[in-house]
Amino acid sequence: MEGAPPTGSATACAPPALTLEGVTKRYGSARGVESLELAIPAGELVTLIGPSGCGKSTTLRLVAGLERPDAGRITVAGDVVADRTRFVNPENRRVGLVFQDHALFPHLNVARNVEFGLDRLPRSERRKRVGDLLDLVQLAHLAERYPHELSGGEQQRVALARALAPRPAVVLLDEPFSSLDESLRGQVRRDTVATLRETGTTGVLVTHDQTEALSVGTRVVVMHDGVIEQADIPEKVFEQPATRFVASFMGDADFLPAHVHRALLTCEIGVVSTVPGWADSDVDVDVVLRPHEVALTPATDATARVSALEYHGAFVLHHVTLASGRTLRSWQPHDVRYPVGTPVTVTVAAGTHPTLLVGDRAVTTPPRNAPRPVTP
Ligand code: ADP
Ligand code: MG
Repeated sequence: MEGAPPTGSATACAPPALTLEGVTKRYGSARGVESLELAIPAGELVTLIGPSGCGKSTTLRLVAGLERPDAGRITVAGDVVADRTRFVNPENRRVGLVFQDHALFPHLNVARNVEFGLDRLPRSERRKRVGDLLDLVQLAHLAERYPHELSGGEQQRVALARALAPRPAVVLLDEPFSSLDESLRGQVRRDTVATLRETGTTGVLVTHDQTEALSVGTRVVVMHDGVIEQADIPEKVFEQPATRFVASFMGDADFLPAHVHRALLTCEIGVVSTVPGWADSDVDVDVVLRPHEVALTPATDATARVSALEYHGAFVLHHVTLASGRTLRSWQPHDVRYPVGTPVTVTVAAGTHPTLLVGDRAVTTPPRNAPRPVTP
């Protein structure tokens, strides 16, 4: 096999597989992407997620050389491929591409599709490389078939083999599974990720599926309106979102006005948690609560009411309306269903340290200009 992910000192010395520094691209007055900053170490598989139109494909097209940045610098494996004065053509960038629609050449068979980017290799090496790649994606037996004779999943594997064949430093995958039906998607995703890992290939995978972003990525980049809101390991993106947008986009989140006084976080439902390091604060914040953190106990004297139920199979999502009219959601096990109208006491599961927001940004230390400093 052509190599496990690089380890040890090799990784320490190797330049990042991809960097973006201050990369900006505008379409007329419209913002494509703005001041992107990103460094992806070799061997990582980064997922890029955000709402439609936020700039995901533009980012990939800039890296691939299908667009020129208006400002900023892009490097691939340590080489500058785009900046104010330089622009390396796509075919010379060591970047592989896999699109949603696979974009295979319909008039070429599987082997010829994979061979396409290998014209610089001698013929014998080319054949060997195609054979290795087809083995890797388990398609050797279909080498003579044409794209229209393949299933969607097989086409996807050909597209991946074709992208990997010239040994790119980075492979970019733009929503590669979204044209596959649900039953196929999981398996093709697992196969694709396994292939990337097996070859130690650095990848950037665009998705609009939150679960896919969190489960596949060694790091997750969340974009919104042309900017990167957060780039972090999956656990941090979900458990410590940097912004209000990330909190609400990556998983379900409800927001309540809250207050921290002498390290005690309280809101409409009562004490939520302590906030270590906030002993001297007296500040208004918003608290982010996720449905798996919210506990319900039926109580006749409670002021909150169950306002809707959604059966999701393993879990039942309970919508609760508080006395203020604000709402929270709570996951309950599948055998728990409090009927609409049930009065419930709402608490937060022990050990929860929820995200706090001031404005649209998460804060981990007390804001400097606390609105109301504690008086002795
Ligand atoms: P995403 O892939 O996240 O859905 P895109 O990167 O395709 O988003 O688009 C980002 C923004 O740039 C959108 O507002 C889109 O309309 C705009 N855009 C993309 N390509 C072009 C183009 N060739 N001409 C004009 N506007 C474009
Ligand atoms: Mg797109």
